[in-house]
Amino acid sequence: MRSARTAAVLLAAGIVAATLFAQPAQAPAPPLAVSAPSRGAPATYTLTPEKRAQAIAYARARYRLHFGAFGWGCLVLLGIIALRLGPRFRDVAESASRRRIVQAAVFVPLLFATEGVLELPPAAYGHHLARFYGQSIQGWGSWIWDQAKGLLVGLVIAIPLVWLLYAILRRSPRRWWLWFWLALLPILVFLIFLTPLAIDPLFFRFDPLAPAHPELAREIGKVAARAGAPIPSERMFAMNASTKYTGINAYVTGLGASKRVVVWDTTLAKATIPQTLFVFGHELGHYVLGHVPRTIAFLWALLFVILALGAWILDRVFRRPDRWGIRGLSDWASLPVLLLGVTVAGEVAMPAVNGYSRAQEHAADVFGLEAIHGLVPDSPRAAAEAFQLLGETNLSDPDPAPFITFWLYSHPPLADRLRFAAEYDPWGKGEAPRYVK
Ligand SMILES: [Zn+2]
Repeated sequence: MRSARTAAVLLAAGIVAATLFAQPAQAPAPPLAVSAPSRGAPATYTLTPEKRAQAIAYARARYRLHFGAFGWGCLVLLGIIALRLGPRFRDVAESASRRRIVQAAVFVPLLFATEGVLELPPAAYGHHLARFYGQSIQGWGSWIWDQAKGLLVGLVIAIPLVWLLYAILRRSPRRWWLWFWLALLPILVFLIFLTPLAIDPLFFRFDPLAPAHPELAREIGKVAARAGAPIPSERMFAMNASTKYTGINAYVTGLGASKRVVVWDTTLAKATIPQTLFVFGHELGHYVLGHVPRTIAFLWALLFVILALGAWILDRVFRRPDRWGIRGLSDWASLPVLLLGVTVAGEVAMPAVNGYSRAQEHAADVFGLEAIHGLVPDSPRAAAEAFQLLGETNLSDPDPAPFITFWLYSHPPLADRLRFAAEYDPWGKGEAPRYVK
């Protein structure tokens, strides 16, 4: 779900979870018909004609859904503005209490619940697609419950955040965007620190990886030692993704004391140990190269531009008093207009955010390849097989259009990653590896 209402949560959790794989939640376990690339032979991402047609159909449906859901989200907010729901909810909130924080606690849930319900159709269609293409086994009841929990988490974050924003707006009508931008950094850091501890466990269970998989944990220890980054075993977790999804995935999340590597249990069930070691090496790359703090810095810089530009536009929109029944920018009732701005800005910023992410993902692929070199027999082959398994299992688009990659892909297309993995060989060329010496 990509509504503006969950923007804060997305910013915190979604973007920063540096996942290995582009699309979470996918595909039934196919027999492991890995078209194994070997040294010398060109390695390519290969699907049976039937599976290829499925992968392309599913991918196209999701691309259409993405842009359709964006348009729908804008229409919902425009409808809320045109029907003057903001002023109505503000009147309810102001009659409830004179205290601003209480007003926020009335106004924000009224607005977000309305928006959330109106934005359910595209979200439900996305879940329907995932079930239709065998990527999700989650029932509708459980899915609705997850949506409700997502809304509640969003409210817990949004109520104080909106209260703070309007407090700043009232005190500093000209420089509010700058103060709010400064306040966002500690908030962002805190939310990312908290995500694996307080938010993720609402949706999945996380168990320490080592006790249940001693052999794998031992091998992982060797990879980490080789990469010069001994990661304590208590920072490695298995997530019970198989209760909802069929696809495979792994990611790095958290910050400081909450920093960790998470591997979906589907990966542990479907991939061989050498393949899993490459997956782990990739995640170790995110971990060692500091991709979470770097992403926070990147997003914060981007937010400066968005807020400065947004403030300039809003200043002009609200120059005329009482527009759409809104008294001014510092009126609670202006929030739907701000959310519309956040929605549009989020979409326009996608190519920048995803371009930055793709560069990090490529670096993590290089790191993973270097970390398992010499530890795993024929390591390029193990990595290429891991990508082949990933593609088949998650129904990855074999040939996305360049514009789609540019706009929507947080990871390089799978075929490119597989080819790179099979061919990367600085050792054979007498060159120095980039990260793991
Ligand atoms: Zn990654």
